[in-house]
Amino acid sequence: MLIDSYDRVVDYLRVSVTERCNFRCQYCMPEKPFSWVPKENLLSFEELFEFIKIAIDEGVKKIRITGGEPLLREDLDKFIKMIYDYEPKIDLAMTTNAFLLKGTAQRLKDSGLKRINISIDTLKPEVALAIAGKDVLKKVLEGVEEAIKVGLKVKVNMVPMKNMNANEIIDVLEYCKKRNMSVRFIEYMENKFAAKDISGVKSAELLSILKKHYEFEDEGFDGSSPSHYYRMKDGYRFGIIEPYEDDFCKKCNRIRLTAEGNLIPCLYFDEALSIGKAIKAGDIKAATEVLREVVRTKPEKNRWGGEDGEVSSRAFYETGG
Ligand code: SAM
Ligand code: SF4
Repeated sequence: MLIDSYDRVVDYLRVSVTERCNFRCQYCMPEKPFSWVPKENLLSFEELFEFIKIAIDEGVKKIRITGGEPLLREDLDKFIKMIYDYEPKIDLAMTTNAFLLKGTAQRLKDSGLKRINISIDTLKPEVALAIAGKDVLKKVLEGVEEAIKVGLKVKVNMVPMKNMNANEIIDVLEYCKKRNMSVRFIEYMENKFAAKDISGVKSAELLSILKKHYEFEDEGFDGSSPSHYYRMKDGYRFGIIEPYEDDFCKKCNRIRLTAEGNLIPCLYFDEALSIGKAIKAGDIKAATEVLREVVRTKPEKNRWGGEDGEVSSRAFYETGG
């Protein structure tokens, strides 16, 4: 079992399989590409799998595939099947923009994927174009329907932004509610790669908008999720993620692996250790030691933006959010 210095059990690994993306979301990478990590620097699926086997043997029980856009990486279904075959009980999930999901959802499900988080910031084609930098909405929504059809459990992420999509909070919630998909509103997190003029909607404002339309009860945090949940009278549950708070850190159980092999103890810290060299050399002992060291040094609380309030240089498309 992996236990950090604050007695938290670390059993959740998020794996970013690529930093590349077919979208250019305003809050993530509006300007990219200027320089992608060269493909040869990425770990192959076989190499990532070697590390994942170690992580599972050390006690990891949940793995989320993310990116950049994970569906851009060829043979993703085969990678998922490798993990599933090694440990069928693993909770295997993915976060995607869904643009390429229509043609792949069935294969992903058949390979062992159980759950999927889809980013839907708007239901208006012109707003989707403004946020993602291309006309994406039709394919995204087709991807959602396909995921539901093949039996994947779907959750939705929305980042509400003023003068952009904030007036669609209720519409997106209703769209999700109709399909029995929980929606989580994520407060915009400042970072130096995002567009300069974004103004996110804070949770207090979100709640006041939602209260005008619904009655709901505060359910607090659910296990180790950073999302604060609220339940409506009819049982529907939605969440709000407040990244600038640190009350969810007490139960944090996750670490992150980038496509290049950097193992990150906390989304909000720049410290990371590489497992790349050890994995490429087939040195299981050394890779296990790096994993244990990263867990040992996992910080107590997040520090988004740094102590001096500086805007974070952590790229979401690299760490997978
Ligand atoms: N491409 C996939 C997607 O968009 O779902 C997976 C990677 S993306 C980096 C993971 C999540 O991070 C998405 O739900 C996205 O909305 C969120 N995200 C990216 N940049 C963000 C920011 N600056 N603030 C808050 N959430 C952000
Ligand atoms: Fe791509 Fe996801 Fe970043 Fe949007 S949030 S640019 S879809 S990685």
